[in-house]
Amino acid sequence: MYKIAIAGAGAMGGRIGTYLKRNGEDVVLIDRWQEHIDAINQNGMEIHTETETYTVQIPAMQPEEVQEQFDLIVLLTKAMYSDDMLKALKSTRAIKEDTVILSMMNGLGHAENLSAYVPKEQIFLAVTMWTAGLRGPGKLLLEGAGGIDFQRSDGEADARTEKVAQVLNDAGLNANISDDVFFSIWSKAAVNSVLNPLCTILDKTIGEFGAYEASREMITPILKELVAVANARGTNVEYEPLLKKIEATYPKETQGLHHPSMHQDFMNKRLTEIDYLNGQIAKYGKELGIATPANELITHLIHQLEMKY
Ligand code: NAD
Repeated sequence: MYKIAIAGAGAMGGRIGTYLKRNGEDVVLIDRWQEHIDAINQNGMEIHTETETYTVQIPAMQPEEVQEQFDLIVLLTKAMYSDDMLKALKSTRAIKEDTVILSMMNGLGHAENLSAYVPKEQIFLAVTMWTAGLRGPGKLLLEGAGGIDFQRSDGEADARTEKVAQVLNDAGLNANISDDVFFSIWSKAAVNSVLNPLCTILDKTIGEFGAYEASREMITPILKELVAVANARGTNVEYEPLLKKIEATYPKETQGLHHPSMHQDFMNKRLTEIDYLNGQIAKYGKELGIATPANELITHLIHQLEMKY
């Protein structure tokens, strides 16, 4: 049987894991939050959608408790905890020579970070348009629909690529094998690198931020630096379409009424993924000799805010 682990089983890991399990796949959840693990093992994962509430029975454990080997490990910790997860999994038998490590985390730099643990042929990258929320230990709020674009990080395809697509699609997760996953990654990172930190620093919803008459002037330096860095790294994103993508989130019919996830992390006194957004743009900029003062400043501002807690 095809064995799957979800490494980091919070909101999004919970969504992916329970969809796969509901479809009869052999899935385990691996997480660090013991109260969440206990609730899932005792009562199953309780799922609330717009129309129904149901429970999925699925095993959950700490990484050190893993006894088996997996064909597919979907990595969905918050980005800054992926090292801890990979180190812990490496100390067990979990990762075989041909295990696919499929990162669905937001942000930039995951292929390089993961290559410290597994060869590049095992690293697959995804961008997900699904969303998910946690209502407490063992309780998920799953609204709306989404999809997943993914590709082997070195651009090659093999038999495992088709298998992963099939398993995800059979579970209703709308997966697509991308021919340029880095385009999707940089495009999503563009939206997140602008709206996440600015709405967090300003304590505003996306719509409130967009309502400011000079919001575009605030976006431009962050976005231009991102485009320059992405282009220098070989990904052909452009300023105008990305600006349109960001501004399309302002109306209340799209995301205008929401705070971005970084704002929620900050309000919950949790660390943010800033080092994998603006921080990673600045890091790449340094490596390439491209100045990224706007992204550096944004990174420092968010780190200063994190220090409040
Ligand atoms: P999450 O915060 O729900 O879970 C991440 C980890 O934090 C899990 O290990 C979880 O158990 C733990 N955690 C959550 N609440 C906790 C609490 N109160 N106390 C202790 N531990 C707690 O994160 P997520 O939203 O699933 O994000 C995982 C990755 O997926 C990130 O890279 C994120 O950017 C990305 N992502 C999320 C969404 C979304 O809608 N949630 C959408 C796209 C991408």
